Amino acid sequence: MRRPLVAGNWKMNGTRASVAELIEALRQQEIPAAVEVAVFPSSLHLMQVVSGLDGSVIAVGAQDCAVDAGFGALTGEESASQLADAGSSWVLVGHSERRLILGESDEVVSKKFVAALACGMAPVLCLGETLEQRQAGQTLEIVERQLACVLADAGVEAFARAVVAYEPVWAIGTGLTATPQQAQEVHAAIRGQLSRQDQRIAEGVRILYGGSVKAENSAELFGMPDIDGGLIGGASLKANDFGAICRAAGN
Ligand code: PEP
Repeated sequence: MRRPLVAGNWKMNGTRASVAELIEALRQQEIPAAVEVAVFPSSLHLMQVVSGLDGSVIAVGAQDCAVDAGFGALTGEESASQLADAGSSWVLVGHSERRLILGESDEVVSKKFVAALACGMAPVLCLGETLEQRQAGQTLEIVERQLACVLADAGVEAFARAVVAYEPVWAIGTGLTATPQQAQEVHAAIRGQLSRQDQRIAEGVRILYGGSVKAENSAELFGMPDIDGGLIGGASLKANDFGAICRAAGN
């Protein structure tokens, strides 16, 4: 039985004051014990959120990490060691905004995945196709290629300590959501790809859906057999909406 995970990606949002308000409102939410919850603030606010959520059930993660795990000459980057030291227990890697806007390749994403694990954090590996790729019938091929690169570098055993997030690019921040059936098809393919290497790990790995998840559509998505929770962008900035999504995952 996989424990659902709801992860809130705050992206490049927030000031110290608005983050303090969001922390306070999150602390008021009723979160079912059956659900694991993590939020991913900007690295600037990471330590504020770690201390603000101290003692709550909500864990904190980073939105990205450097390709090198340790310390050194890489101006402007934060390494997995530094993020772990700041209290982060999770890291998003390969978010489509980084792949498409900042040009992150599968190889770079894979190095970040390995770096996160080396520092004791759990990576959330984001995969997904663009609208053009979906319309060209390439969805499964694209997602398989993105996953294959990480599998080749990190090995299937790494997925005992990692999470996968399927996020169709055309559904992120657009208000368009994959239907539960569309999402399930890709989630099952991801699990199948892992299963060809290790069935036990494939059955245990959590695969989140992300892309315009809201309180209203979350229960139906989370009801699909291979959807084990969500990666939530916009709705994670509203504590009540995020709390409702967490409760949908817990039921
Ligand atoms: C995301 O950025 O990971 C995301 C899923 O965003 P949204 O929920 O706003 O579509």
